[in-house]
Amino acid sequence: MDKYDYVIVGSGLFGSVFAHEASKRGKKCLVIDKRDHLGGNVYCENVEGINVHKYGAHIFHTNDKGLWDYVNQFAEFNHYRNSPLSLSKGKLYNLPFNMNTFYQLWGTITPAEAQAKIDEQIAEYGTSDPQNLEEQALSLVGKDIYETLIKEYTEKQWGMSATLLPAFIIKRLPVRFTFDNNYFNDTYQGIPKGGYNKIIDGLLEGIECKTDIDFFEEREKWEGLADKIVFTGKVDEYFNYEFGQLDYRSLRFENEILPVANHQGNAVVNYNDKEVPYTRIIEHKHFEFGTQPSTVITKEYPDEWTPGKEAFYPINDDKNQAIYQKYSELKKQQPNTIFGGRLAEYRYYDMHQIIASALTAIKKEFNEN
Ligand code: UDP
Repeated sequence: MDKYDYVIVGSGLFGSVFAHEASKRGKKCLVIDKRDHLGGNVYCENVEGINVHKYGAHIFHTNDKGLWDYVNQFAEFNHYRNSPLSLSKGKLYNLPFNMNTFYQLWGTITPAEAQAKIDEQIAEYGTSDPQNLEEQALSLVGKDIYETLIKEYTEKQWGMSATLLPAFIIKRLPVRFTFDNNYFNDTYQGIPKGGYNKIIDGLLEGIECKTDIDFFEEREKWEGLADKIVFTGKVDEYFNYEFGQLDYRSLRFENEILPVANHQGNAVVNYNDKEVPYTRIIEHKHFEFGTQPSTVITKEYPDEWTPGKEAFYPINDDKNQAIYQKYSELKKQQPNTIFGGRLAEYRYYDMHQIIASALTAIKKEFNEN
């Protein structure tokens, strides 16, 4: 068999961007993926003419014009703005936390009234040095919002008490005193017209790719085929669980095709109450302003991760960070392997951050600036 410059394990955004950029620089790449399709978790499946985000909703957003231009090379983006709603105890609230939410919760009309209410709650329940997600949320928005829109959602999403979760997770959500339901603060946002597969297809065009290949089944063969490996799978598995297994959170998706044009009037509706076993319902057509006569919805159930299930989220608590730290040291002793992506870096990355890190890895690899 031919020899490659890089065998790239995993065809998600990190692997695909790396392969694209390395090929552009004249290198020979082989991309392998254990699934029966390319694209990792951004992969979309067409059902009834609707792009179904098979591994959970993906909404591209970034503040970086360079990254925005980068993805726009491969697909045109629409003007979708994520503005999820949350159903809590029979009432709908706008997310992220903004003047609409405050009005729905307290009836406050002006920013000054809302600010006073939040300040009062923070003064009573907040702390200057939050140590976990609960303390962080109470210090950011106070008790009413925490109890109505955060606590139960978070605890079912992560399967553990909010007092044991890292504070940074909740900092993903903006708090603002305008009537603006845009979930993200970023300048650029949208969904690729025609779905994310267009981006993956564009990135991997002309590059040799093989699906249904589990790297670990014939590791020596793949490693022997290239000067370097780009590894985007689970870092603990790469090192044969030498320091033990890292924990992940999994998800289970239940899809339904419904014979109605519009089921919930929005792409994303969160379900805060702990009695509801799923965290959100995604109605995929709304990501692309679809006008099909039917609709596809997905109920997203948080799930305990056990070997064999998809590892969707790293659990960056102290215990797992300590284990990851040890793997991180081992990585440094592997000059011929480049590690990247959510699983190999054990980081809660968004899409734009993964692309940025793949571009950084390329610059480093090719000694560019
Ligand atoms: N979150 C919450 N209530 C919500 C939505 C999110 O408390 O209605 C919290 C929850 O802890 C979640 C975190 O915010 O894990 C990040 O949510 P986001 O939807 O940004 O993350 P995703 O799961 O889409 O990566």
